[in-house]
Amino acid sequence: MMKKVLIIGSGIGGSGFGALLINTRNYEIELFEKNSLIGGRFSTYEKEGWKLDVGCHLIANCENGPIGWILNEIGRANDVKWSYARNPTPKFFYIDKFLLFPRELIRLNISSKDLKNLLSLMKDLNSFSETELQKLEEEQVDMRTFLSNYTKNMKVLSLFSFFAGLYFVIPDFLTPASEWIRCQRDILNFKTSGYPIGGTISIPKAFCKFIEDNGGKVHTNTEVKEIVIENGKAIGIRTDQGIIKGDLIISNVGVKTTVQTLIAKELVDTEYFKKINSYEYSLATIQTKIALDRKITDEKMIMFVGQEISQDNWDKKAFEEKNFMKLLQDVDFHPILFIPIVSNLDPSLVPEGKQLIIAGGGCPTPSQGFNNEDHKKMWEGAIIRSLEKIFPSIRNHILWTETTSPEDINNFVNKDGTVIGIGQTTEQVGINRPSHEIPGIKNAFCCGADTGRTGIGGELAANSAIELYKKILKNN
Ligand SMILES: Cc1cc2nc3c(=O)[nH]c(=O)nc-3n(C[C@H](O)[C@H](O)[C@H](O)COP(=O)(O)OP(=O)(O)OC[C@H]3O[C@@H](n4cnc5c(N)ncnc54)[C@H](O)[C@@H]3O)c2cc1C
Repeated sequence: MMKKVLIIGSGIGGSGFGALLINTRNYEIELFEKNSLIGGRFSTYEKEGWKLDVGCHLIANCENGPIGWILNEIGRANDVKWSYARNPTPKFFYIDKFLLFPRELIRLNISSKDLKNLLSLMKDLNSFSETELQKLEEEQVDMRTFLSNYTKNMKVLSLFSFFAGLYFVIPDFLTPASEWIRCQRDILNFKTSGYPIGGTISIPKAFCKFIEDNGGKVHTNTEVKEIVIENGKAIGIRTDQGIIKGDLIISNVGVKTTVQTLIAKELVDTEYFKKINSYEYSLATIQTKIALDRKITDEKMIMFVGQEISQDNWDKKAFEEKNFMKLLQDVDFHPILFIPIVSNLDPSLVPEGKQLIIAGGGCPTPSQGFNNEDHKKMWEGAIIRSLEKIFPSIRNHILWTETTSPEDINNFVNKDGTVIGIGQTTEQVGINRPSHEIPGIKNAFCCGADTGRTGIGGELAANSAIELYKKILKNN
């Protein structure tokens, strides 16, 4: 008799896991998504003929990463076409001009000895053995401390901290050196960072299509209200239509949300509940999507650093004091932005001859005080003033803008609107990451970025799906 698996959420973790499991032909899959669009943080919507992603814009390793692995495993590698973020190579725009990384670091007054050290570190990332990386992880060595062995130049260290923000959305002093090394070396080795043609939704769409092509069901606009548990065993889910029974329940909605809202509190182990509540989320970003009447740049990706950052100002203040709002009073532009020019990666996203620039940077979450349209306007204004430093005439070409705030992300996919969910900090990786299992409750599992062991954003969620898939196959 085929086992029935109910999946809550169609993010990369939920839809990827469903596709993998249905491919075994031993399971029936039914997936429930609360939104009208599938994909969660990888969703894409349309506005006046333009395709806009909800959150994500860059996949770290495309076909060579875990998303590619899933597509390959289910025999659908050709269902997603990739466009790579190279040629031209991604660049820093540092204060007032472009800076090639790491070659032009010399402009930041780094000594030639330190520069040599850093260049050889970047070349030697492959030489770290898994044992060495695990030791760094166990000793909770952070990226800043690790890189300080190569240079003490604050400006250079601050520039490296951009990658902690970009990959893990936490400051470098909380980023595990081991996780940075693992992810950075894959990116350098594969050189296949890129974008899925048609928008990021193309990936969960391919997974959901595979589920449906194989007899599974994908329900949109269907919010799950509860995981139904009897005698310590998950036996189904409850939606507005009633209870649906299943043999395995997989929650892709985030570990905290699962435990705090989908399971009756008295059924959750008290120590586990406390532990889950103590996990810290990553930071959030605000993203302004700028529609332009014509192409103003051939760049595909720009990393903007608008002021001399030092380790002790922007990121530290933002994270430790949790006081992002105040930061915009110090400068009238957003000092750190990631700027993918997505229509140069995929021209089919926009009407012919037009350009779509997206600029995203750190910003408070709703629970840190970001919660109204005025805040949104203030942050959008700061982002556009930053873009003017790179493209002085940009305002003359703006057709419209649309800003997605952490509040919007929270309304769409919860987790306080943060980018990752549970942050990959030195204290929250490896054996300290939440597990798929929910102690004391059989047949219910969590799957998604929160339970991913390694990887960047969507690839972290995909890794969680692969690991859970392997576990379920082994145990059933
Ligand atoms: C602004 C932003 C930018 C990002 N940029 C990148 C990037 O460039 N590269 C990258 O790799 N990653 C990026 N990420 C991170 C990446 O998108 C996430 O790590 C990843 O997509 C998370 O996938 P997930 O499977 O954990 O679930 P999610 O994407 O969080 O999906 C969870 C799903 O569950 C659904 N759901 C929730 N509650 C219920 C319920 N009760 N019933 C039914 N359904 C429910 C939600 O609607 C959602 O569809 C970004 C994220 C954001 C927010």
